[in-house]
Amino acid sequence: MSDIYDLIVIGGGSGGVRAARMAATYGAKVALIEEYRYGGTCVIRGCVPKKLFVYASGFSHIFETAADFGWNVKADFNWKTLLENKDKEIERLENIYLNILENWKVDAIRDKAIIAGPNEVRLLKQDKVLRGKHILIATGAKPFKPNIKGAELGITSNEALDFKTLPKSILIEGGGYIAVEFASILLGLGVDVSLIYRRDLILRNFDEDVRKSLEQSLKARGLNLIYQTTITELKKSDEGVSVSFSDGKTAEFGAVMFATGRVPYIDNLGLENANIVANSSGAINVDEFGQTMCPSIYAVGDVTGKVQLTPVAIREGAAFAETIFNNNPTKIDYSLIPTAVFTDPEIGTIGLSETEAADKHKDIDIYIARFRPMINTLGSSQEKMLFKLITKKNGGRVLGCHIMGHGAGEMIQLVAIPMMMGATKADFDKAIAVHPTAAEELVTFKAPNYIYENGVKVG
Ligand code: NDP
Repeated sequence: MSDIYDLIVIGGGSGGVRAARMAATYGAKVALIEEYRYGGTCVIRGCVPKKLFVYASGFSHIFETAADFGWNVKADFNWKTLLENKDKEIERLENIYLNILENWKVDAIRDKAIIAGPNEVRLLKQDKVLRGKHILIATGAKPFKPNIKGAELGITSNEALDFKTLPKSILIEGGGYIAVEFASILLGLGVDVSLIYRRDLILRNFDEDVRKSLEQSLKARGLNLIYQTTITELKKSDEGVSVSFSDGKTAEFGAVMFATGRVPYIDNLGLENANIVANSSGAINVDEFGQTMCPSIYAVGDVTGKVQLTPVAIREGAAFAETIFNNNPTKIDYSLIPTAVFTDPEIGTIGLSETEAADKHKDIDIYIARFRPMINTLGSSQEKMLFKLITKKNGGRVLGCHIMGHGAGEMIQLVAIPMMMGATKADFDKAIAVHPTAAEELVTFKAPNYIYENGVKVG
């Protein structure tokens, strides 16, 4: 016996749920299979719990600043309360996801799905086969740990979101989003944090001014940075974990966390039964409409190895449903993706870095403002905000915008709108400033700090 669907979605995360819901709104009969919890990485063990922790961690800085404004705050922190409240919120969100599916009559099935053929999915626990005109793989990604001795003693962001008790000290390996965000969160919660990165500056591929400014701020807040080094071995110790480094040194930490990237989750998915071959990074290659090498099977989100961001997976899920179930072929524009790094201070960024812009457009103008935000002016904090605009020469198109400081994530979302519309520096200048704000810097830049001519920095 087999059930027949228009669409079988494998994976109940951001991309899968969006595709399932939209396909159902277009009248498709849909099943969605999830082996763990609805909501996927973002809701269950990614963006959402992380952001709640970012808020929790940020209070320590607010309390310090409060004293400068006359407040006498006596505060202590209870990790267990935070954990319990976080879990409740995630459960609430998971139920919302389930309700959405129920409301649209999507069959939400909790099981492990294995592709059994171009139009067949086997449910492992129920030992049953579903048939689908289309199958959508939206299984996401999972943390990657380097292949070193004792790697099993190191945790990943999954476990860091559920520490039973906070460690006194932690070593985090990696220089990307997750490494710096967790370093910042744990610093704010009073943990002694070291970050080890194999290169010489965090956040490769971000604008260099942003990278250096964040490095400086995190150091000033107590982060111990170890560059040009990797972890070579982990052993259990009295303190927690004893770590051997590539430079021959050793040290002990309460915990060690790998934030060394995430790899597509295709474990036991049965790709071979539909003649789909993952690429060398383990990702499923798709065309511009999300179609895999098997015509009835599509894929969206992290499993495709394109852009590992929730909003991108959601867009891809929606575009897939629009293409297949609304007869409206829809491609995604990946050219300008705003993104935030939720460190304290926060980063918001969109478009080209200075190096990329100089390389690609040759003649560009660079505008930079660095200043102590008003909230720091009554106290001793020397932390500065950074605003940087990169434009084509002489008031031309805005190519990149990079912000570091409080609210940078919110600001960059708004900057994304004029940038998608092709706004120029002259357009930004037409906007009247909102005063006193930090964001007014974006519309009050006068002359460039320096320019590039034919790809070479001048002045
Ligand atoms: P990233 O790819 O951003 O960073 C991985 C880091 O680990 C890099 O610094 C990389 O170094 C390093 N690394 C990789 N392999 C090794 C190794 N074998 N030994 C030592 N170091 C290694 O991955 P993350 O895990 O930080 O995040 C995964 C994805 O999740 C990101 O791409 C991002 O898109 C998404 N994300 C987004 C967030 C947001 O929008 N705020 C928050 C969290 C995650 P190198 O630079 O040399 O490659």
